[in-house]
Amino acid sequence: RNILIILGFSCIIAVIALIAVGLTQNKPLPENVKYGIVLDAGSSHTSLYIYKWPAEKENDTGVVHQVTECKLKGPGISRYAQKLSEIDIYLTACMVRATQVVPKSRHQETPVYLGATAGMRLLRIENEQLADKVLAAVARSLSNYYFDFQGARIITGQEEGAYGWITINYLLGKFTQKTSWLNLRPNEDSALETYGALDLGGASTQITFVPQDKEIESPSNALHFRLYGRDYSVYTHSFLCYGKDQALRQKLAKDIQQFQIQGTGNYQQCQQSILQLFNTSYCPYSHCSFNGIFLPSLHGDFGAFSAYYYVMEFLNFTSEETPSQEKMTDTMEKFCSQPWEELKTHFGNVKEKYLSEYCFSGTYILSLLVSGYGFTADSWKNIHFMGKIQSSNVGWTLGYMLNLTNMIPAEQPLSTPLTHS
Ligand code: AMP
Repeated sequence: RNILIILGFSCIIAVIALIAVGLTQNKPLPENVKYGIVLDAGSSHTSLYIYKWPAEKENDTGVVHQVTECKLKGPGISRYAQKLSEIDIYLTACMVRATQVVPKSRHQETPVYLGATAGMRLLRIENEQLADKVLAAVARSLSNYYFDFQGARIITGQEEGAYGWITINYLLGKFTQKTSWLNLRPNEDSALETYGALDLGGASTQITFVPQDKEIESPSNALHFRLYGRDYSVYTHSFLCYGKDQALRQKLAKDIQQFQIQGTGNYQQCQQSILQLFNTSYCPYSHCSFNGIFLPSLHGDFGAFSAYYYVMEFLNFTSEETPSQEKMTDTMEKFCSQPWEELKTHFGNVKEKYLSEYCFSGTYILSLLVSGYGFTADSWKNIHFMGKIQSSNVGWTLGYMLNLTNMIPAEQPLSTPLTHS
C-alpha cells in the first residue's frame, strides 16, 4: 500500500513537472512590434502621435493604431519665427515622452516625421526664408534624438486632404472590406463606399471625397490612387484662410471697415456677416463651392474631424446621431444670444478663448457646410462628427505615415500607391 502511495505521489509530481515544462515551452515569443512617430505642426498647436503595429502584419488594413498623443505646450511652430532658440525646449517634453513610450531597443528603427500645415504655408507666403529657418531649427532639434528622423516639411493642402481621407477609410476598414457575393459590380457595393473627409483646422479647411461622376473637371482637384487592388478617383480641395481662426480674422477685418465690432448676440446678423466670406458670384465650372472653386455633387457619407469635432463636442452634439441641421441652427441661435457673463459662469471650466469664439465657430461650421459646400437638410444627415476611431485620432498624420512607410499596398507590398495627377 505504501508503495502504491509513493507511486501515486511520483505520478502527480511528474505531471506537475510536465505541465511546468509545457508552460515554459509555450511561453509566447516577445512581440515583434514596430513604432512610428508623426508630429502634426498645425497653425495653433503641435501634437505628437505615436503609432504601433505588429511587424509581420504590416500590409493588412487596420493593424496600425495610435498608442499616444502628446500635445506640445505653446502655439504653432510658425510663431517661433522670431524665437528660433526656443524650439528645442518646445519639442523636448513630448520627444522625451516618446523615448519613454517606445522601447529603447526600437528607437533606432522608429521613423519620425514632422508635417507642417497651413500656419506654415502662410508664413512661407509672407517670408519664405523665415519659414525655411523655422523648419531647419525644428529639423536640427529632432535629429538630436536616437530615432530615425525622416524630415520636417510643409505638406501641401492636397496632401492634407488626401491623407485625412486615407486615415479615415483605413480606420473604418473601407479599403479591404469584402464585397457582398450578391453584388456583381463591386464598385456599386455600398459596403465598399468610402467616407469623405471634412477637416477644419485653424488656418485651412479641406474637403475630400470620391464623387459619383469619375470625371473631375479641374485637374488640380483630382487625385488617383490604387489601393489594395482598387482604383479611386478622389476630389480634394484645401481652402487656405478658411480654417476657423483665419476665417474669424477675415470676418473681423471686414467688420472693422464698417465699424461694427460690438457683439450683439444676434445669430442671424452673425450668419449674414459670415456668408460674405463666401463669394458665389462666379464659377468657371459646371458647379462650384465658393470663390470659383470646382466642387462635384456631394456623394456618400462624410467624417468631419479636427475643429469640426471640437466645436460639435462642446455643443454636445457628438454623443447622439448627427443632430438635424434645424436643431443645430436652433442651438446656435440660443447659444449666441446668451450674455457673456452668463456663459462664463455656466462654462467656468472651458478655456475662455474657445468659449468666446463658439458662437462664431458653430455659425461658421453651419455656413461652410450649407452655403459653402451645399449640404442640404437631407445630405447633412450623412455627416458624422468624429474625433477618434477606436484609439486613433482622425486626421492626416496616420495616412501620412502609412504612405511614407509603404504600408498601404497598391497591389503587391512595397509599391508606393500615392500618385497625384
Ligand atoms: P490646427 O492647429 O491648425 O490644427 O487647428 C485646430 C483648430 O482647432 C484651431 O482653430 C484651434 O483653435 C481649434 N481648437 C482646438 N481645441 C479646441 C477646443 N477644445 N474647442 C474649440 N476649438 C478648438
